[in-house]
Amino acid sequence: MSESAEMLERLPAAYRSQVEEVLISRERIAEKLDELAGAIDRDYAGEELLLVGVLKGAIFVVADLHRRLGVPSSVDFMAVSSYGSATTSSGVVRILKDLDAEIEDRHVLVVEDIVDSGLTLDYLLKNLRSRRPASVEVLSLLTKPSRREVDLPIRYVGFEVPDVFVVGYGLDFAEHYRGLSDIVTLKPEAYGG
Ligand code: 5GP
Repeated sequence: MSESAEMLERLPAAYRSQVEEVLISRERIAEKLDELAGAIDRDYAGEELLLVGVLKGAIFVVADLHRRLGVPSSVDFMAVSSYGSATTSSGVVRILKDLDAEIEDRHVLVVEDIVDSGLTLDYLLKNLRSRRPASVEVLSLLTKPSRREVDLPIRYVGFEVPDVFVVGYGLDFAEHYRGLSDIVTLKPEAYGG
């Protein structure tokens, strides 16, 4: 069996036939998170860190990063809704769930699944900075640089992806596919409903 066929074989049977290609395997994700956690440990040595996960897409990135960190860290979450179509963002953002705690004077690391146009993150960063944290940086597992509409400082990037719609490892399409361990692309008929 070819490597790509083997990768498809590992996906849950219910979803396998809808997947076009495994773009980033679970092994590559794990290796990248090891690498990023090492960099964060070095950069924040002697400090305490608050990871702010953006729901729901960042759930696995937050969990898998948090347990790799050596520096003392805690976790909080925000949920935002971006008004737009199912697959694009408008930049108009509403906070559905705010942080539980104050962030004044704390070192904040925003953890994202993907930065596409950057409009959602741009809004979020402005909002968080207004709360006077000691610092705010961003980690995004994925980035689509070709789609960027605003210039954003992303300190830690996992993988650059082309302008394709990806799902898995927290990323959904209509709330499906989030639980896949790999990041994959879908066959056109999967969007058809
Ligand atoms: P932005 O505001 O950067 O354009 O959009 C960010 C949000 O759009 C992400 O947090 C994610 O919810 C959604 N998004 C952008 N690209 C993709 C993609 O390829 N797949 C999925 N599942 N969601 C995406």
